[in-house]
Amino acid sequence: MAVFNRVESPRLVEDAIYSEVIQAGDGWLRVLKPGQVLRIVDLEGNQAADTLLYDAENPEDHYSAVATIAGQSNIYLSTGSVLRAESGKELLKIVADTCGRHDTIGGSCSAQSNSVRYSHDKLSMHNCRDTFMLQLAQHDGAYTKRDLAPNINFFMNVPVTKDGGLKFDDGVSAPGCYVEVQSLGSSMVLISNCPQLNNPCNAYNPTPIQVLIWEK
Ligand SMILES: [Zn+2]
Repeated sequence: MAVFNRVESPRLVEDAIYSEVIQAGDGWLRVLKPGQVLRIVDLEGNQAADTLLYDAENPEDHYSAVATIAGQSNIYLSTGSVLRAESGKELLKIVADTCGRHDTIGGSCSAQSNSVRYSHDKLSMHNCRDTFMLQLAQHDGAYTKRDLAPNINFFMNVPVTKDGGLKFDDGVSAPGCYVEVQSLGSSMVLISNCPQLNNPCNAYNPTPIQVLIWEK
């Protein structure tokens, strides 16, 4: 079982057709054409890039953590992981990864999880669920909260303990670590660069990430 499958990319930054920095707390949404490769760079290390995927041809068919985990018989994501939709359709594949392990069990932060996990006065804090919803609403008003599925947390370290518990641990990523996903069809990628201030995953300090895109 490949848990830390670190593979560097052959792609050169100067060949990318798109590059943008997403500040901590900001969101990003884009449709990738078949074959396009998206790189997400953890610029300062230990940031969590909460990510949702949709089949752009049929947006109701969204990313499924369950189908992805079952399809690869592995709870962690790394190079070679095929990211599947609810229907089982293969949406994207991780083709390079210098971090080596990403979570898809921990979910994204929300007003509710912040208040349950930390304290009630965190209820009003900025959270990934709100960023996801804002991005979706700006893209197409037809999206609702029902379109928010369990997500991927790129660069986030959520080890599963021997007795089946989840630990939100100090990160395994480092400044400059990146992950690359290739779109197998036409896929919509939605990212919330997590604003979380209460979690050791990002050392209580959310930082920017960079996204780059290459043609096939
Ligand atoms: Zn978050």
